Amino acid sequence: MVFEKRNFKLDESISTIIHLFEHKAREKNLKLTKEYNKKIPVQIKGDSSRLHQIILNLLSNAVKFTNEGSIMLSVDLLDEDDEKVTIEFSIEDTGIGIPEDRIDKIFHNFEQGSASTQRVYGGTGLGLAISKQLVELQGGSISVKSVLGKGSTFRFILNFEIAGDTIEIEADSKEFAAEIKSLNVLVVEDVLLNQLLLKTILNDFGFKYDVADNGKIAIDKLQSNTYDIILMDLMMPEMNGFEATEYIRNKLGSKIPIIALTADVTTVDIEKCKANGMNDYISKPIDEKLLLNKIVSLVK
Ligand code: ADP
Repeated sequence: MVFEKRNFKLDESISTIIHLFEHKAREKNLKLTKEYNKKIPVQIKGDSSRLHQIILNLLSNAVKFTNEGSIMLSVDLLDEDDEKVTIEFSIEDTGIGIPEDRIDKIFHNFEQGSASTQRVYGGTGLGLAISKQLVELQGGSISVKSVLGKGSTFRFILNFEIAGDTIEIEADSKEFAAEIKSLNVLVVEDVLLNQLLLKTILNDFGFKYDVADNGKIAIDKLQSNTYDIILMDLMMPEMNGFEATEYIRNKLGSKIPIIALTADVTTVDIEKCKANGMNDYISKPIDEKLLLNKIVSLVK
């Protein structure tokens, strides 16, 4: 895994991420706040996409597993020298907490807090394992403290270089903020229930969206509207997802990111999605967090 080193403004990134969860938090009547140590240098250098991914995972869990109370995202400066800063990110919630005997395991692949977690909250049990990997491969550490029924605090610590050149930064982090906030998604899906599920997820994050019932309608829409990303079902009447993608790439010559919505990863040829010009895939039932991560990393 290769990590990028690019200048970005951490404060802006954090505000944008908070903004993404505001709607969902309000809907669940949760207080969502941020605490940010202003002593952190405005410009730092590192892999902002991966950082966003880690925070998105943790915040999304906090919102998911908290039914009342509050969630706080804190960013603090632990250490600083001429070249680098050590920053601690913590995500504190007043949610359901994690049983003591499960706490060591939740960072493992496919581990969930309890046997009923999957049934009640859905999810894949992969988010934390990926977050841990992303943190540790960058030389950082991640930990959790939790009291069952009271809440959890996830903390991770990462080093960043202090950015020298400021010109590049401006465009970079502003771009992320602007693009995410006004994202326009085209959903291409024929099944009404799936359309509704996707609308709910996209609504939660305040994204704009449009729905096309099949590939043919999607192509019509693409010719008169502008979208930032397409979520494309594969099996559809009239024109399926593969045919539509091929048309979009070859006839329309468009490079718009396309995420395939697959019914079952085992039966669908992932290679076929890629060969067809799709950028990524996600299997149904759609995991909200995973979808958000994929969208955010593709529109960047
Ligand atoms: P999932 O996609 O299933 O949520 P994760 O790896 O993100 O997978 O989380 C693993 C498990 O850890 C979850 O199923 C849940 O039981 C527990 N967990 C994670 N975050 C929290 C939290 N903030 N509060 C309570 N439990 C949590």
